[in-house]
This record gives sequence, structure tokens and C-alpha cells, in this order.
Amino acid sequence: MNFLINCPKLFNCIKSLRNRKIMFLDQIISADGLYLRTWKDLQQDNNLNCKYGRPPKWYKYLQDKFTPYTPSCNNYRLNFKLETPIISSCFAPRFPTAPKSHVLHNHRFKWVAFWNDSKKEIEYAKVIHSANRPHDKPTLYLEHYIISYSVANNTSPASINHELIKCNECQLNNPFYITTKYVPKCALVSYNQHCITVKINNQRKKYFTTRYNTDRINAFNDFLQRQFPLNTSRLQLNLQSNNHFISTIINGPVHLIRQLN
Ligand SMILES: [Zn+2]
Repeated sequence: MNFLINCPKLFNCIKSLRNRKIMFLDQIISADGLYLRTWKDLQQDNNLNCKYGRPPKWYKYLQDKFTPYTPSCNNYRLNFKLETPIISSCFAPRFPTAPKSHVLHNHRFKWVAFWNDSKKEIEYAKVIHSANRPHDKPTLYLEHYIISYSVANNTSPASINHELIKCNECQLNNPFYITTKYVPKCALVSYNQHCITVKINNQRKKYFTTRYNTDRINAFNDFLQRQFPLNTSRLQLNLQSNNHFISTIINGPVHLIRQLN
């Protein structure tokens, strides 16, 4: 995090970052690389350890130096451009897996999304049930929703919320959605591992996306990562050497280890 090099009390900042499991800039900025994530957003991220406490000094420093944010102007747009693309293996949390059993769990107001590569678009779906049966992968029973795009007038594209409307039935409808309960018109069956969780606003029985652009990039990156996983072949070490200690520490993709040199 070279962005903090001039931050006062740098040593304490590094300690705080380490405690909060933050190592890379892409953990605290939006997936499109355009915005600093809000402190509230970081607090809700289970991959980080930010749940408790006020925004730390390093967060305020980034806010002051790299965004136009002021207490009266809620703008988190970053004032620099990232030269290298953001590559992360975790784009959004998965839907939590239930304990192994034959029980079907019911859900309300929970949403997931995934990339539809034939449409080149994100698909949103409401979670109706989740299951984690023995000898099967954690499965989601979903109701498909269609995005009704709102056209921008004077606001920035990041702040547009599109409405989600129940799909009447499309190619995604899955005949193997079998329950004795409510069956959606467009019923999807998917695995937890094939969806990312997303946040949807519920306003007067209408549903709206809250971070469409970020969700879309996350869903696409997640799709790419699953279709074309990064090469994670292990580095071959000479275990005949006396230095076994080093070989027990190094464990990761070859190109990353080479970068360490
Ligand atoms: Zn559908």
C-alpha cells in the first residue's frame, strides 16, 4: 500500500491494516477501481476484520488525500487512475452454506447474482430456498428477476438504481426446481459456488439494485475466474537440499513467488 507512505504514524497504520486483514488496495476500493469503498461497506465485508470500531487514521488519510470527500460531500471517487488491472480471487461473498442435512431452508430478502455469458449481462435472482444435502453440492433455489434499466439524466452512472422485476419465464427456467411450496414462474436452480451475493433495496414492495456496476463487474470476474482459473501450479522445490524450512513456507502460484524475488 504505497499510497500510505506519507501517512503520519505509518508503523501504527501498518499494524492496524494487518489486524484488519488488509494487504492490497483492491480490498478497499470498488471492483471497477473508481471508488474508495465506504467504511460501512468494509465493516460488512466478512473477508476483512473491520466490523468494530470507528474508521482508522489510515482510512481517513486515504479519504482526505485521494477522494474529494468532505463531511458535507459524500463523494468517494478516487482521484487517481490505477495502471494495473485489479485481479482478485474473491469478488463477493458466496451465499452461506447451511449445515449438511435434508432440510430445505427458507429465505426472504436475500439476493444473488451471476453472469449470463450468452446475454453478456448480470442476472439477479432472489433466494427462495437453500439446501446442503448429503452427497450433493450446496444448492440454491432461486426466483429469476429481470433488470428494468433506468435511463440516466443528471446523476452519475454509479448512483442509478435499476428496478428488478419478476421474470415471467425465460431460457433459464429450470424444470428440476421441485418443491411442494411456492414455485416461481422463472425458477432457477444453482450452486452457492456459482453465485455471488448482492445487496438489493426493497422500497414499497419494489426491488432496486444498489451497486449495479460493481455487481456486474464482480459477476463477470467471478465467471472468468471459474471458467479460466489462474494457473495455480505449485513451485517445484528441491527437497534434497538442507533447507526444508523454506519449502514449508512457500506455497503459492509460481509467478507470484517469482515476483517476490
Ligand atoms: Zn427468467
